[in-house]
Amino acid sequence: MMPFAEAPARPGRATVPSFGPPVSGNGVDMNSSTTQVPQVSLRGDTAIPQLGFGVFQVPPQDTAEVTTRALLAGYRHIDTATAYRNEAEVGQAVHAAGLERADVFITTKLWNDDHGHQQAPKALDASLDRLETGYVDLYLIHWPVPSQDRYVETWQALIEAQEQGLARAIGVSNFNQPHLERLVQETGVTPAVNQVELHPLFQQAGLRREHEELGIVTQAWSPLAQGQVLDDPVLSRIAEGHGKTSGQVVIRWHLQLGNVVFPKSVTPQRIEENIDVFDFHLSESEMAEIEELDAGTRIGPDPDTFVRP
Ligand code: NAP
Repeated sequence: MMPFAEAPARPGRATVPSFGPPVSGNGVDMNSSTTQVPQVSLRGDTAIPQLGFGVFQVPPQDTAEVTTRALLAGYRHIDTATAYRNEAEVGQAVHAAGLERADVFITTKLWNDDHGHQQAPKALDASLDRLETGYVDLYLIHWPVPSQDRYVETWQALIEAQEQGLARAIGVSNFNQPHLERLVQETGVTPAVNQVELHPLFQQAGLRREHEELGIVTQAWSPLAQGQVLDDPVLSRIAEGHGKTSGQVVIRWHLQLGNVVFPKSVTPQRIEENIDVFDFHLSESEMAEIEELDAGTRIGPDPDTFVRP
């Protein structure tokens, strides 16, 4: 991990310069589970653990416990969002873990009703307050909401937030090629990442190529297709051959493609299983077989039309 300096303390906020001395949780030493997860370099002179933990649809009352389990299992990258309504509980778990702030990568996202040059800084401020931190590692525009046509001015606000040290890196989510190109043309600043729906049933080869050309890291949301792909016989056969599960094969496929992933689970055994993916390798022919599963069908909304406030 890059050695980060803390963002300057800001009045009125409980900035947490360090999480205190290392502690054990549930009998497990947090530091002993520091992982083999590779780091991916991001614009903004930082780096992100390629495998993280997502907390979409984790109820707020369960989020601190589930996030603590993830940290104990070795995850050091948590993906939350204002819309998930569990930023505060993510922050509580991270602070209670006794890790250095710089050792946990936190992503959060700006929701659709916070677009705009004036509104966006307030939204980030509120997220930092809920997370009880002086900076996030990555701040994303959650959806472009083209019908509002405010994503360029929102992006400008994120650029300024990064300059102020409130976000180590900035990026977008659910942006299609024309949205990305417009940001770059109108601000001159390329997003560090684009977080998009991506799994074996919806592989987004064209958008991944565009990301590569622009130097944008691809983050894959719903990497397991919310479990819908895990009974596939091709995946089951490949998994059996490696003594792994279908879920582990899918995560491994993402990692070998170069995607950054953060599977979600509230199930203790799956939380551990999903990070136990660094002791096997998919062959070229196995990667090609998984490529064949692409059905080109989304399970989530279409970014061109999604407007939910
Ligand atoms: P996902 O990670 O693809 O799948 C989660 C589902 O799969 C849950 O039902 C989970 O069940 C199950 N599961 C997890 N591991 C499993 C395993 N090893 N075997 C069998 N089933 C397993 O879906 P997701 O939560 O939609 O996506 C992951 C993260 O992406 C989110 O948490 C969020 O951080 C991010 N995301 C972002 C956006 C966006 O618009 N930017 C949209 C959606 C998601 P249990 O929990 O019951 O174990």
